[in-house]
Amino acid sequence: LLVSRDYKSEDTIIKVKNTVIGGSAHTLIAGPCSVESREQLETVASTLKKMGLTIMRGGAFKPRTSPYSFQGLGEKGLKMMKEVADSHDLVTISEIMSPNQIDVAEPYIDIFQIGARNMQNFDLLKAVGEAKKPVLLKRGLSATLEEFIFAAEYILHYGNDQVMLMERGIRTFETETRNTLDISAVPILKLKTHLPVLVDVTHSAGRKDILLPCAKAALAAGADGIMVETHPDPETALSDKDQQLNMKEFQAFWDGMVDSGLYR
Ligand code: PEP
Ligand code: MN
Repeated sequence: LLVSRDYKSEDTIIKVKNTVIGGSAHTLIAGPCSVESREQLETVASTLKKMGLTIMRGGAFKPRTSPYSFQGLGEKGLKMMKEVADSHDLVTISEIMSPNQIDVAEPYIDIFQIGARNMQNFDLLKAVGEAKKPVLLKRGLSATLEEFIFAAEYILHYGNDQVMLMERGIRTFETETRNTLDISAVPILKLKTHLPVLVDVTHSAGRKDILLPCAKAALAAGADGIMVETHPDPETALSDKDQQLNMKEFQAFWDGMVDSGLYR
């Protein structure tokens, strides 16, 4: 396989503007679940900037379980995100759910996110394979690592080798967490592929009181980076309000990562 270590032994390093993902430095991707307003993004962006972080996430096309839940601001949200990110010199990442959203999102975002629910949307995988921007591919809710690896292979096969993998928890019988963080996925994906491997602690936990230990475990297991959701006022968030860190909690999370000595 093109993604395999056998095919290419060196780690893939992804460069976006001045930001590097993979290789010797860790990455922390943070931002709100959904893009909601300019003020919201402004607060998050200035906090990231102050911490020396460079990648802001935010969903504008939202894959919601219920059709009655907030579906995202769409192109308007992406435009807002780009304007705020540009003014703070940040890189943006946002989810697209269908091939036709690639052209819509392309002018505004630096990294395409493919969400867990679309890990096996093969037309989407082919389309981002033909696109010219890096892709963050999330593991499906019930996907085996083999299926995950084949999904990434689609993107490389169609021409795009700027792919990073993200473990985001899988469905199990456990109910204390929203999903079960599969820590062993990290070393397995690192052994089998040359792609950067990141861990989304927010969507795996589905709660915010265990994010730091989960992030430390991910780094100790060899992850190249972490994704975490943060919102200026989580109680009023239009999605994932129980699991987003407010700015103070986010600062404590970041301090904890740095203090652990695991984040380099
Ligand atoms: C997200 O990161 O915004 C998201 C919806 O996550 P997932 O696809 O992992 O559920
Ligand atoms: Mn979310």
